[in-house]
Amino acid sequence: MIYKHDPASILGFLEDTSNLKTGHTPGVFFPETIDELSDLLKSAPKEHRRFTIAGNGTGTTGGRIPLGDYVISMQKLDRIGELVELSSDKAFITVQGGALLDDIQKKVEQNGWLYPPDPTEKLCFIGSTIANNSSGARSFKYGSTRKHIARILLVLPQGDRLDLTRGACLADEHGMFHLSLPLAGSLAFQRPQYRMPDTSKHNAGFFSEESMDLIDLFIGSEGTLGIIVEADLMLIPLPAAVISCVVYFRNFDDLFKFVSLLKNPQNHVMPRAIEFFDQHSLGFLATKYSEVPSDSCGAVLLEQETTPATEENDLDALFERMESCNAMTDESWIALDRDEQARLREFRHALPLIVNDWLSRQQESKISTDMAVPDGAFRELFDFYRNSCEEHGFVYIIFGHIGNAHVHLNILPRTREEFLKGKSLYREFIAKALSLGGTLSAEHGIGKLKSEYLVEMYHEHGIQEMVRIKKCLDPFLILNIGNLIPVEYLETE
Ligand SMILES: Cc1cc2nc3c(=O)[nH]c(=O)nc-3n(C[C@H](O)[C@H](O)[C@H](O)COP(=O)(O)OP(=O)(O)OC[C@H]3O[C@@H](n4cnc5c(N)ncnc54)[C@H](O)[C@@H]3O)c2cc1C
Repeated sequence: MIYKHDPASILGFLEDTSNLKTGHTPGVFFPETIDELSDLLKSAPKEHRRFTIAGNGTGTTGGRIPLGDYVISMQKLDRIGELVELSSDKAFITVQGGALLDDIQKKVEQNGWLYPPDPTEKLCFIGSTIANNSSGARSFKYGSTRKHIARILLVLPQGDRLDLTRGACLADEHGMFHLSLPLAGSLAFQRPQYRMPDTSKHNAGFFSEESMDLIDLFIGSEGTLGIIVEADLMLIPLPAAVISCVVYFRNFDDLFKFVSLLKNPQNHVMPRAIEFFDQHSLGFLATKYSEVPSDSCGAVLLEQETTPATEENDLDALFERMESCNAMTDESWIALDRDEQARLREFRHALPLIVNDWLSRQQESKISTDMAVPDGAFRELFDFYRNSCEEHGFVYIIFGHIGNAHVHLNILPRTREEFLKGKSLYREFIAKALSLGGTLSAEHGIGKLKSEYLVEMYHEHGIQEMVRIKKCLDPFLILNIGNLIPVEYLETE
């Protein structure tokens, strides 16, 4: 197995997009086969080694950054299999954990199929997106990654392989799972007894629900319970056509009315993506896109699947809704062909790049939220974000997945004082979101950066539920220590 420990090779593994700067490791292993990976974990207790799993480093929470442990890079386990068509509207593809999401999506689309999960950043490994239950704009219609995973193959912390097909291992009437493994022996553990928040997206802590599937415990567990080495991804037919647009508004009431019309469950066609940009986001975008109107309070980016036969009717219905909500129709941007839609996607992706460029000229890091709340509470959280930032005179942007009542607030501090104020406000934002029945993280996960806040959501007993499962599957505490579960809870008996 390839092992590298020279400073130049290690450097890239000490970072992701979180800005966490305390990473260090004795070295990085690059398993090329599942057996090599399994042997590495098997020998870990004897060798006194712990491991942090590294995907491609686009995570935002420091999850792949080692704090003294060895690194296992998934880079070499990157095979993408052939598509298997099950029927005219169902197919799957088997991929290894280190395959690039972008490569997978291109391959299936070239064959006329779609893998729906679309975290905005496509340069991530598929195994990480499963470990983090990633989601993105299209999750409004299609849900997060978990919904599209039919099977995973894991290597567990003691080196066992566990091949889990959806539906094959469900919690019994007491919420118990029973496993019999060659190396770890017989294991029995109960699903967490806490209730999940009533939000349409949630990605904080181990998943739990009555009669749950064991596969769902591993999906979203952020590499704390096992390493995802292979997966079967479910595919759907590529839509024949898509209507994409950016619709501008002069005031928030009109904009929110438009969003609720789009989300009306009685619509015969639901959009697949409903995204939001506030006026500050638009201000940053205007530095690159001169057509962005200066008198808009915000914009909604919309994607709706259609067919050549229904496109005209769908467009008429869209214009009707825009008119009824006083949208800035003349300034709005409708993209119907592939080139124009690619430009529009670039527009959406340009925001983090422009903001990061601006930030690189400041001394401080951004403070960003990832909370979501139940639909009915969204306006209250949104107004709380805005009013708090205005009161403090911050430079800030609010953008993201408004269809899922999940927007990101980024505070962009110009001074240390603003950074410290922003940090203390962050705690207030969490308290507010939780008091509204929300979640600490809707998509980016907890990693190392947010584990200290997890207790506010689950309280002591909820964290202990996760510790109990972690210690059953990983009794020697070998894998991704410091991620998700606060370390102090693992170290006590
Ligand atoms: C500009 C930008 C936009 C983004 N937009 C979105 C978005 O819309 N939605 C969203 O959900 N996320 C988003 N992200 C976050 C990020 O892309 C996802 O979390 C992604 O899943 C990380 O993949 P990665 O390969 O880079 O993982 P890494 O950052 O390398 O690792 C992430 C975590 O996964 C663990 N891990 C990696 N591989 C495995 C494995 N095989 N088995 C078990 N655990 C593993 C690591 O230990 C770590 O804890 C965005 C990031 C950026 C920079």
